[in-house]
Amino acid sequence: MDQNALQEAAEAIRGAQALLIGAGAGMGVDSGLPDFRGNEGFWKAYPPYQKLGLDFVSLANPRWFRDDPTLAWGFYGHRLNLYRKTPPHEGFRVLLSWSERMTHGAFVFTSNVDGHFQRMGFPTNRVMEVHGAIDKMQCTGLCEAELFSAEGLQISIDESTMRAREPLPACPRCGALARPNILMFNDWEWDHSAMAQQEAGLYVWLREAGSSPMVLVECGAGTAIPTVRHFCEQVADHPQRKLIRINVREPEVPKGHISLAVGALEGLGAIDEYLAKESG
Ligand SMILES: [Zn+2]
Repeated sequence: MDQNALQEAAEAIRGAQALLIGAGAGMGVDSGLPDFRGNEGFWKAYPPYQKLGLDFVSLANPRWFRDDPTLAWGFYGHRLNLYRKTPPHEGFRVLLSWSERMTHGAFVFTSNVDGHFQRMGFPTNRVMEVHGAIDKMQCTGLCEAELFSAEGLQISIDESTMRAREPLPACPRCGALARPNILMFNDWEWDHSAMAQQEAGLYVWLREAGSSPMVLVECGAGTAIPTVRHFCEQVADHPQRKLIRINVREPEVPKGHISLAVGALEGLGAIDEYLAKESG
């Protein structure tokens, strides 16, 4: 691994008073979660969809909740069960320990819907889930019910067909079918209220951090859906801020920032070792 980059990264973390974490799909891959990049990887994780000729983009569409609810809940129920039973990797703990060094703590900006940052101890008011979260539900009947928690919801899946077994999750207010509060493709019905509240919290935090030295650590955020990368580059474009981009496939970084072309877990662990070595 690039020793100069590691040293620079360790220095940036040591000198910072605020930590902004950006996370994309690559962060979850190191916990063993499937990568939805490309049909081959997706169909390897979910063989029944290959037979049906359905790829990730066609499945992640709200139309299935109207047209074929057991198919829709087969896909999202399987993911809910998978995210619940998968323990987040050690890299989350490393980031949490860095956040504890900072006067202003940390804020997480993630496109992942798995809730793994909160599960590893990040405060819920310090996480913005820009594509929503699988642990929140919304009504498909548009009855104006508020979002409700998926906690305690059990979804049984027939894995040979990837269909969910009845009864499917229902809105507690009107009884209509519920769906996860995740932003899908062509999704004009997504309830963005929770995300908007998190976003307001992020801007308050950024204002409070002001011009204090800030380090941005971005893990596994690709260019296919570049929301996380753009956000991190935009915030990092400031003399007192340094971006550390950890990305095995797309490590390119704006001039003056730091790039590590490795996986999230490996990169975070290596920087953390460097930090320990230098201070010990
Ligand atoms: Zn409802």
